[in-house]
Amino acid sequence: MKKKRILLIGTGGTIASEMGENGLEPELTSKQLLRYIPDIFDICEAECIQLFSLDSTNIQPGHWVRIASAIQERFYEYDGFVISHGTDTMAYTAAALSYLVQNSPKPIILTGAQKPIGFETTDSKQNLRDAFTVASSNLPGVMLVFNSKIIMGTRARKTRSKSFEAFSSINYPLLGLVRDGRIIRYIHWEVPSPVRFYDTVDPKVALLKLVPGIGCGVAEYLLSQNNALIIESFGVGGLPSYHAGDYYETVKRGLAAGKTVVMTTQVENEGSDLSVYHVGSSIKQNLPILEAYDMTTEAVVAKLMWILGQTADRTQVAELFYTPVARDILAV
Ligand code: ASP
Repeated sequence: MKKKRILLIGTGGTIASEMGENGLEPELTSKQLLRYIPDIFDICEAECIQLFSLDSTNIQPGHWVRIASAIQERFYEYDGFVISHGTDTMAYTAAALSYLVQNSPKPIILTGAQKPIGFETTDSKQNLRDAFTVASSNLPGVMLVFNSKIIMGTRARKTRSKSFEAFSSINYPLLGLVRDGRIIRYIHWEVPSPVRFYDTVDPKVALLKLVPGIGCGVAEYLLSQNNALIIESFGVGGLPSYHAGDYYETVKRGLAAGKTVVMTTQVENEGSDLSVYHVGSSIKQNLPILEAYDMTTEAVVAKLMWILGQTADRTQVAELFYTPVARDILAV
C-alpha cells in the first residue's frame, strides 16, 4: 500500500526545547525533531515546515490563523497533518483549529510532550509516533494525541501540569487509543463535506472566574474592553446578587452595549444548567445571555473568537454558538 504523505508543522513547546540559562526554551526545528524518530518513515512519508518556535504561553489567536492557513495552503498536497505544540495552550489551539478548519476529511493532529525530545526520559518520541500513526489513518478532523489517547479537538483540556498523562477529554468519550502503533477506535464519527477554512478571529474575548465575594467592577471593566465576556460561575451556574442588582445590572448594561455574555461553570465535568436555581434562571429568563452547557471553557473561548470574527449580529452569534461544530456542544 502507498504510504501516506504527512506534514509536520513545528511551533515550539517543551517537545522542541533545550535547557538554557533560565530554563527550557524551544530551540529545535521540526526537521530536528524528525531526526529523533527515523522509524516514522516506516509509517509514512514525512515532510516538515517550521512556523514559529514559541513556548505556547506566547501563542496568540493570530498564531492559530497562521497554522490554519499553513494547512489550507498545503491541504491537497498531504494526507494528514501533525502540529507539534507546547502543552500549556494546546487545548486552546486544538479548539481554535476545530473552528478554523471545519469538516476536514483528513486528520489534523496536535501533539507535544511534558519532557523535551533530547532528554533521556521523555514522552516526546512516543507522542510523535502516535500522532503520525493517527495522521496516517482515515480519522477525520482536528484531534489531540497525547500519552496514547486520541481526544476530539474541541474536548481536550490539560489536566496535569507535570505527568505524562497530561490531557483529558471533557464531557465526551475518548475517540480511541494508540497501542503499539495500532489505533483502537472507541467511537465512530463522520464529518460532513466540504472542508471549510476561516481566517478571521476576534481576540477581544475575556474570561472571568468568579470567587465568593467578588464585586462586579472586574466584569464591568472586562465588558468595556472586550466584545464578549465568558463568566465561569459556580456549579450549574448563576450570578451573585449580594449587592442588590449589581451583577444583573452589569451584565444587562454590557448586553445593551452589544457585547456577548456567556455563562459557564468552573466545575470541570458535566457542564452548566442555568435553569436549576433561581440565581441562574433569573438571568437566563430575562437577559439574552448564552450558556455553555457541556462545552469546555477552551472551546467557548475559541468558538466566540471565531464567531465574532464572522459576525457581530446577536441573533447570528447565538445561532452559531449553539450550532455544534466537531462535537463541541451536545447538551443544548
Ligand atoms: N511551557 C511549555 C509550552 O507550553 C510546556 C509544554 O510544552 O509542555 O510550550
